[in-house]
This record gives sequence, C-alpha cells and structure tokens, in this order.
Amino acid sequence: MGRIIDGKAIAAELNSENAEWVQKLIQRGVTPALAVILVGSDPASQVYVNAKAKKCAELGIRSLKFELAADTTQEELLALVRKLNCDPGVDGILVQSPPPPQIDEEAVVEAIDPAKDVDCFHAQNVGKMLIGRTDGFFPCTPFGILKLLEKSGVDPKGKHAVIIGRSNIVGKPMMALLLQKAAGANATVTVVHSATPNPEEYIRSADLVIAALGRPKFVTGDMIKEGAVVIDVGINRVPNADNPGKTKLVGDVDFDSVIGKASLVTPVPGGVGPMTITMLMRNTILSASRRADRIEAEAAR
Ligand code: NAP
Repeated sequence: MGRIIDGKAIAAELNSENAEWVQKLIQRGVTPALAVILVGSDPASQVYVNAKAKKCAELGIRSLKFELAADTTQEELLALVRKLNCDPGVDGILVQSPPPPQIDEEAVVEAIDPAKDVDCFHAQNVGKMLIGRTDGFFPCTPFGILKLLEKSGVDPKGKHAVIIGRSNIVGKPMMALLLQKAAGANATVTVVHSATPNPEEYIRSADLVIAALGRPKFVTGDMIKEGAVVIDVGINRVPNADNPGKTKLVGDVDFDSVIGKASLVTPVPGGVGPMTITMLMRNTILSASRRADRIEAEAAR
C-alpha cells in the first residue's frame, strides 16, 4: 500500500519559509508586490485571483488586483501591462487565464517584462528553463511538483519519468525540468499525448508518472509499475455519486486502484494544487529579492 504525498502540509512548510523570506526583504527595504490582472468576470478566474490575493496577504506580499471590464481592448490591457512593467515597486505581473476572446493572450504574455513574468510563460523564460538557466523563473505547477518530489525524498535521477500531456503550462515544462542535468532532475523522460497509440504501454514502464491530461481517473492501477511514484495534476469536476445533484473534484488518476501499486501518490484535492500558488508566491519573492540585490548593488557604487 502506497503512501500519500501531503501537498497541503508541504505547501504550508514552504509558505512559512516564504513568509520569513518576505520579512527579510522588508528589513532590506523591499516589500514584494504581485500585480494580478483579471479581464471580465469569469467566476472560476475570480476564485483563483482572490486565492492569490489572500495568499499574498498571509505572507506579507503586497497584492495589486486589477479587475478590467469584459470588453477591455487589447491596447488597453497592453497599456496597463506596460505601466506595471515600468513600476519599480512591482515584482510580478500576471494576467489571469483565460482572457475574453478579443484578447491575444500570447501577445499579452510577451509584453510582460520577463523579469516580472512570475508565471514563467514568457518565451524568454521558457527558453532559459529549457537550456538549464536558473536566472529566469520556473513555471509554478511543474516547479511545485519538483518540490513535492524533493520533500518526499524522491530523486528523479536515472528514473524513467512518463508525463501524460504536453501543454505549455504543465507537460512541456515538466519535461524540460526533469530532463536537466541537475540535482533534483536528471530523469529519462517520455511524454505521451493524445496522438500516442497505447500510452499505457509507456506508463507501465515508468518509475515516476505525472498525469496532466485533464481526463478523470484516466490512470488506473493496472497501468502502474509496482512501487512507482504517481503525481496527479488533473483537476476535473464530475457528478458526485454519493451526493446526487452535486459535483466533486477528481484527478487524472484513479486514486483507489493506484494506491495499492504505487509507493507514493498525490491526492486530489490536496496534492499538486496547493503547490502551484505556493510557487507563484516563491517566484514573486525571488523577483523581489533580485530587486533588493539590484538596489544594494546600485547603492554600493
Ligand atoms: P491541456 O492544455 O488540456 O492539455 C492536456 C494534454 O493532455 C494535451 O497535451 C493532450 O494531448 C493530452 N491528452 C488529452 N487526452 C489524452 C489521452 N487520452 N491520452 C494521452 N494524452 C492526452 O491541459 P493542462 O492545462 O495541461 O491541464 C491538465 C490537467 O491539469 C487539467 O485537469 C487541469 O485542470 C489540471 N491543472 C492543474 C493544475 C494544478 O495546479 N493542480 C495546474 C494546471 C493544470 P494533445 O496535445 O495531443 O491535445
């Protein structure tokens, strides 16, 4: 019987480090600040934006929330991004996804100053990550997964990692991070996707499975090698059989059948989810720490 990786507990531990780091920066005269832009009033996006603001408040990070009308034009949004780029007191900028259809999301991301791109969606930061540079940022969900592995004593070195899904937010950056010739990585990585015939054939040979495809309970116990580590990124809302008329959240992994084969499994909720916001906070603090270093270097000249 496998053990559960408690993402909530690991996130709480990292957040207490985050809060201490913020206090040290405040003593150096820099209060980390995160600007979050929400265009329109999508209820799910509002929940995410509010959760980010709440976490900032808990950690002592200044949060700036910009709620723009659903008919905001591309130019208006870009003007706000440029203004925030130039604001020396802002360390991180993000535009909540998905924006309304008149907005070209890629162009907006490219307009964010890479030094403030704490989501790590800007091509410059994605490129840095791919070639193994650490002077950009790591994207929050895959970065959170690396931390979950580290805190659970799992070293990916030499292991066969199979990632299910190749999105720009999860699958591809997860591949890039696990592949690096670096501590906490150094895995042999296979990525399967919707055009892969029989993905279960790859999954069965995996020491580490990272499921990020958005299909409820896709990964079942019969696909899992005895003792494998299984990370479930999926968040799927499905009808709740125990409570008719209500829904519940399930992952991409069939937890009940997998826990009997795997050595470690993340639950949904309470696994990867809490880590994503934690790493967003960490990236914001990292950006603020670079700002403090710049100010001190300037003063020492
Ligand atoms: P996405 O953009 O929809 O990408 C899904 C990927 O899975 C695609 O690459 C797709 O292949 C692949 N796929 C779909 N069906 C498949 C199948 N039957 N077999 C193999 N591959 C298949 O999703 P995402 O943004 O990466 O998110 C994935 C899941 O993680 C979602 O449930 C999402 O809600 C969740 N998520 C959670 C967090 C968190 O913080 N916990 C963060 C981000 C996402 P193609 O490329 O060929 O279409």
